[in-house]
Amino acid sequence: MKFEDLNLIPPILKALREENYAKPTAIQAKAIPLALNHHDILGSAQTGTGKTAAFAIPIIQHLNEFTQKQNGKRNTTALIVTPTRELAIQIGESIKTYAKYTRIKHNVIFGGVKQGAQVDALKHGTDILVATPGRLLDLINQGYISLKFIKYFVLDEADRMLDMGFIHDIKKILIKLPKKRQSLFFSATMPPNIMELSQQILVNPKKIAVNPVSSTAETIQQYLYLTNKDCKTKLLLHILQDASLEQVLLFSRTKHGADRIVRNLRKKKIDCAAIHGDKAQNQRQKALKQFKNGEIRVLVATDIAARGIDIDKLQHVINYDIPNEPETYVHRIGRCGRAGEEGISISICEPEENAYVRDIEKLTKQKIQVIQDNPFPQTDKPMTAAEKKEWQKEKQKRKQEYFANRNKKRNVPKQQAKKKKKDK
Ligand code: AMP
Repeated sequence: MKFEDLNLIPPILKALREENYAKPTAIQAKAIPLALNHHDILGSAQTGTGKTAAFAIPIIQHLNEFTQKQNGKRNTTALIVTPTRELAIQIGESIKTYAKYTRIKHNVIFGGVKQGAQVDALKHGTDILVATPGRLLDLINQGYISLKFIKYFVLDEADRMLDMGFIHDIKKILIKLPKKRQSLFFSATMPPNIMELSQQILVNPKKIAVNPVSSTAETIQQYLYLTNKDCKTKLLLHILQDASLEQVLLFSRTKHGADRIVRNLRKKKIDCAAIHGDKAQNQRQKALKQFKNGEIRVLVATDIAARGIDIDKLQHVINYDIPNEPETYVHRIGRCGRAGEEGISISICEPEENAYVRDIEKLTKQKIQVIQDNPFPQTDKPMTAAEKKEWQKEKQKRKQEYFANRNKKRNVPKQQAKKKKKDK
């Protein structure tokens, strides 16, 4: 199938040609005709499948025919809600690309930055609004946004939205939407709570499923290094000696872990940066931009920060640890080998994570190839149940001590200040 077979208008076809998209991806071939025919859609698709274009193109095409203006100002007729700032920005960039030769205007709003510039941009009117839930509700409550003209509503990455605790925000947004509208609902997984949410949003939806989360793209080669916990950094440096790993997205389970990896890599003069929830929005965007421009070789990310990161032609993903949820592994490695490109994922596994590898292999029904040529092979054994219990107790104790000490240190200046005030 070609894009020309999908009844798309010439300005969109022209933009797609410029992007060198040879043909629609599976989700696009299925979703675009249904959405153009005004059906609600329940789409099971992960990032990397081309789902952004699958929902954005039909909306652009519809809106291009009927841009609503009142007193010369555009009304927001399409709303796309997505869980993270990075995703919102990327969806905005995709819309900009596909709508390049149309009259459609779009805006992107997300939290974590001052609202002034976003509010100013909204004052000029917009056709399509891409938003994260919290900032959207904030600006609605302040009277800067009205949802009463919405005809098209997209809920993107619904499962992640719920994981991130946005369910109440979503429900508040739903109440404000007009009943008569077309809704498109996308989620990588479809557990019962997601199905329940979809039923509150969609009317007689057409169901589409592409690449369920258990499936890892066939174009991604997966490798595994088994090592000991205290050899991970050395092994990572060994892996990065291979110059063919030009650019790597490296996953770390924790924010502290991500910062530690960056420190260790910088000591060896490897250009890198971390993106995670403790980094300010402008730092995260700067790091992502530098990575996309090729200025840094390794981008270290936590799962939530990396969600939906879309980097053209990214070939390598390294898992510095093995996630305990196998679905997270599938999402992580899905960042490379996108839209049919080749990708390589390398995972570093310590003894305690051996069991997680087994869970992943069960889910994906694929064996991950173990690299034998490994200077730091795994010699330690996973802890026994009793040892693990003891270790967890010890860890808890140390954590409590750490917080008690920290609070003590923080309280000292406060108490001193109070005393000073009193003395005055
Ligand atoms: P998404 O799943 O929407 O995040 O898209 C993943 C990547 O695939 C993005 O970099 C898109 O630009 C790219 N893409 C989307 N549709 C196509 C297509 N039909 N052909 C080639 N690349 C595409």
